[in-house]
Amino acid sequence: MALQVGIVGGGQLARMMIAPAVELGIDVRVLAEQDGMSAALAATDVGDYRDVETVMAFARDVDVITFDHEHVPQDVLRALVEAGVAVHPGPDALFYAQDKLRMRAKLAELGMPQPDWAPVADAASLDSFIAAHGGRAVVKTPRGGYDGKGVRVVAAASDAADWLDALEDGGELLVEELVDFTRELAQQVARRPSGELVVYPVVETVQKDGVCAEAIAPAPHSAGRLADVAGDIGEAIAVGLGVTGMLAVELFETTDERLLVNELAMRPHNSGHWTQDGAITSQFEQHLRAVLDLPLGDTALRAPWAVMVNILGGPTDGTLSERLPAALEAHPSAKVHTYGKDPRPGRKVGHVTVAGDDLAAVCYEARGAASFFTD
Ligand code: ADP
Repeated sequence: MALQVGIVGGGQLARMMIAPAVELGIDVRVLAEQDGMSAALAATDVGDYRDVETVMAFARDVDVITFDHEHVPQDVLRALVEAGVAVHPGPDALFYAQDKLRMRAKLAELGMPQPDWAPVADAASLDSFIAAHGGRAVVKTPRGGYDGKGVRVVAAASDAADWLDALEDGGELLVEELVDFTRELAQQVARRPSGELVVYPVVETVQKDGVCAEAIAPAPHSAGRLADVAGDIGEAIAVGLGVTGMLAVELFETTDERLLVNELAMRPHNSGHWTQDGAITSQFEQHLRAVLDLPLGDTALRAPWAVMVNILGGPTDGTLSERLPAALEAHPSAKVHTYGKDPRPGRKVGHVTVAGDDLAAVCYEARGAASFFTD
């Protein structure tokens, strides 16, 4: 019988695991939040991932449970493990991806380079952190943030008064120094339960309004020390936190040439979409291989450069499909990926990747093709 992977979460990351699963002869089942989601191409159950019974029933016949997000509650994850279900990444690793304060504390314990940070629960301690860090800082809600939501640059505690007021008893916000970075990077690694680990080339990511807009692989001028340091950080975190499957480590490169860890994702990640058309093994195939404890694939680039450009929002009139013929006609080297989502301002509805020898030409093609899908 074919291997069975159960993916909790029906978004585009689950959707993009389906193609390599088909190629490898792996059956994918999806537990989607609602009908008609991106991953509904696979056999889909609809149900609440926070409900133990629902997730246990979904997990009954699969070889492994994995995820397209990090939000499955710890009690649900632990119930699965206790019932003998293979869960990758497991609850002990996901614990650190679910809460930015826990992540900071664990990274400190592992000696990883990161921005100065502190937990804060009241205005006085936030103001004193800001004063000690040059008059500005970044406040984050520890849980539930994504795409820049839950991240705010502040100059005084009053700028985060609404978040402080909303804290429950014992609740805390995370405050970090405002890092003076020259660019943002992302390091991906994959790790199997039995320990094999592979490292992808470090990439540069470009954010617009807190959302990833582009990724360039490899990060320009990263050969040598930068790639080695980033790879070592990725490996140390994957091993230190016991991550299985794909891990993405978002990094800041500072003006004084240090790398600092921003945050972690324990699943395929937007910064790795370029691997579909630019690496020998895509992150989606690699994640399946890793969680099934199959031998991992080569992470090398297929061409000197690969660039991924997100399609954000989509067209204000009509559908992505209507724009497809003209984009393909104008940019034959571009690989277009769409997620089956309705256009909506700011929403990630697809991406384009191009791989090739000349970075300027690759960027031109990828941006040009992506521009056909927005106004
Ligand atoms: P999210 O979970 O919403 O992706 P992040 O923690 O990755 O939030 O922050 C979103 C963006 O905000 C980052 O990509 C970066 O551009 C900026 N940012 C976050 N933390 C800092 C910091 N300490 N200093 C400077 N910029 C930051």
